[in-house]
Amino acid sequence: MRAAVLREYGEPLDVTEVPDPEPDPDGAVVAVEACGICRSDWHAWQGHGEWADDQVPLDYVLGHEPAGRVIGIGDDVDRFSEGDRVVVPFSLGCGVCGECRTGHGNTCEDGHALGFERDVPGAFAEKVGVPHADHNLQTLPAGVSFRDVAAVGCRYMTAFHALAHRADVGGGDWVAVHGCGGVGLSAIQIADALGARPIAVDVNDDALARAADVGASEVVDGSEADVVEEIQDLTDGGAAVSVDALGRAETARNSVRCLRSRGTHVQVGLTTDAERGEIPLPTDWMTRWEIDWLGSRGMPPARFDELLAMVDDGTLDPGALVGREVGLEAVSDRLAAMTTYDTDGIEILTF
Ligand SMILES: [Zn+2]
Ligand SMILES: [Zn+2]
Repeated sequence: MRAAVLREYGEPLDVTEVPDPEPDPDGAVVAVEACGICRSDWHAWQGHGEWADDQVPLDYVLGHEPAGRVIGIGDDVDRFSEGDRVVVPFSLGCGVCGECRTGHGNTCEDGHALGFERDVPGAFAEKVGVPHADHNLQTLPAGVSFRDVAAVGCRYMTAFHALAHRADVGGGDWVAVHGCGGVGLSAIQIADALGARPIAVDVNDDALARAADVGASEVVDGSEADVVEEIQDLTDGGAAVSVDALGRAETARNSVRCLRSRGTHVQVGLTTDAERGEIPLPTDWMTRWEIDWLGSRGMPPARFDELLAMVDDGTLDPGALVGREVGLEAVSDRLAAMTTYDTDGIEILTF
């Protein structure tokens, strides 16, 4: 099969022939129809993560947001057969540990991250292998296209879990979203659909314009305004929920500081080379005002039905966030564009 192979960090991917994946006894092989190109791919491509011992290996295939058709299954797979249309979450669970059995497969004790670890090569390829298929594969409703869910297995589900399950956003809540890349735009659309009032924060005019298009009630240009003051003013005292969708020291602190008393911060973005996994926070102030600080990672496979039902009935429209579709040869160019934040909404690979 053809795949885009990472040979050197930060260098163009090598589009070449590689061996087809074979299904494990309880695994499946999926023919990739669409796969989002995500900032997490960019971090991996740059070689980030060595401080947390999760730098991706070289001679490796990235890509962790696939949707496609099942074309191979192991003998022990019960719930899926060849031809099934599926979406694959990046946060793969084992299906049998305590976390997985209690509906928390995204924090599986023996979990793997698709497209980041040697044992689970990614989906910038014609085919991708998926371990523990019965637990991890999610059936796509008949009326939903592969294109529309190309980022659901990572950015969109992450935003959904953060707002609907972790923070429990309710009608009328002011929800600040810091960073309007793929996961931030997803959070804005989802917050709007949940009846909340999203405030989009970014330093890029195009990103703010797109945020307004997909449901932001207010936009704050961080290159001009004091973000915390502006949000405190707009909301008459602070947001109920705030999401750091970027993972920088400044956005995390702004996100905490823009909350009202008893507000909830959700950390979705992972940090960069500058923070190396740790960000100082105003803990005395958070204690004084009883601020909740929540981490959120992916989404449990067990809760996909909720999200896909809302996509199927039109309540959520992840396809509206897709700004560009490219072929395998152009994936490198779109990763390079992320270096200068020069991307257009959610960009996806299609076959
Ligand atoms: Zn992603
Ligand atoms: Zn598990």
